[in-house]
Amino acid sequence: MKLRLQPIRVFCLNHVTKEFDPATMYECDWMQIDEFKNKVMSLQQSGVEFISLTEAHDKLQHDCFRRKKYAVITFDDGYASLKEILPWLEEQHIPAALFVNGKYLDGKSYRNNPQEKYLTKEELFTLVSPLLEIGSHGWEHTDASQMAQSDFDHSINRNVDILSTHPRYIPFHAYTWGNRNDSSNQILRNHSIIPILVDGEKNYINQTHIHRELLK
Ligand SMILES: [Zn+2]
Repeated sequence: MKLRLQPIRVFCLNHVTKEFDPATMYECDWMQIDEFKNKVMSLQQSGVEFISLTEAHDKLQHDCFRRKKYAVITFDDGYASLKEILPWLEEQHIPAALFVNGKYLDGKSYRNNPQEKYLTKEELFTLVSPLLEIGSHGWEHTDASQMAQSDFDHSINRNVDILSTHPRYIPFHAYTWGNRNDSSNQILRNHSIIPILVDGEKNYINQTHIHRELLK
């Protein structure tokens, strides 16, 4: 008998806002808010149900049959611009996972330029809706494939120390730019953290990692 498994699509987004801000955003990590809403609604109209990342992971581990189409929305980097799109997702009862760098939660540190705004720790810890999940993106936005094993381990420990006190914390790590190597995968396994990639692929069955694609 042929197993029928519809894929679970996991979408990776960064900024979703009304206006593009060239001072703090790149074209490649920005989507206009109405375009985003239209894409989400058209997926729903085509029968896709949005579920949480944890639910998707459970389904990938246990489903023998999956006739329904599921998708997951995720946001990387924890930008302050999330405050524009999260209320709409909440209104629509659509779950989302946020992958956050602990270092930038202090309201002063930044990744590329001083104008970048991230959610502060206070803001992040008020996001306690059951529709939201908070995972790791590393302490800083650094490339795991270029890091010494001990540095990557330290980056995960330091980030998870903060994030694991959040009531919506999930043990998932979204690799920055999807970059990783064997030792970084092993470190995540040692911490029982599930790695997440951005490789344009869909998920069918459980593997050692979750694939993500861009919402196009
Ligand atoms: Zn990122």
